[in-house]
Amino acid sequence: MKYCPYCNQMVSPVKRPSWFLFIFLSVITGGSWIFIYAIYYFLFKKEQCPICGGKDLRKR
Ligand SMILES: [Zn+2]
Repeated sequence: MKYCPYCNQMVSPVKRPSWFLFIFLSVITGGSWIFIYAIYYFLFKKEQCPICGGKDLRKR
């Protein structure tokens, strides 16, 4: 659990894949992009607040 300053409460953060991008790229490249996206997802994708989508979560 992390603290969301926007919702002013403790939330359990989520990583949200962008499904539109996911499907779009799959169709265009035939799935070969998935490896690149996987690396991006695990290295750079930030955890978000499930309520407001805020990325400025803090440990409390
Ligand atoms: Zn929030």
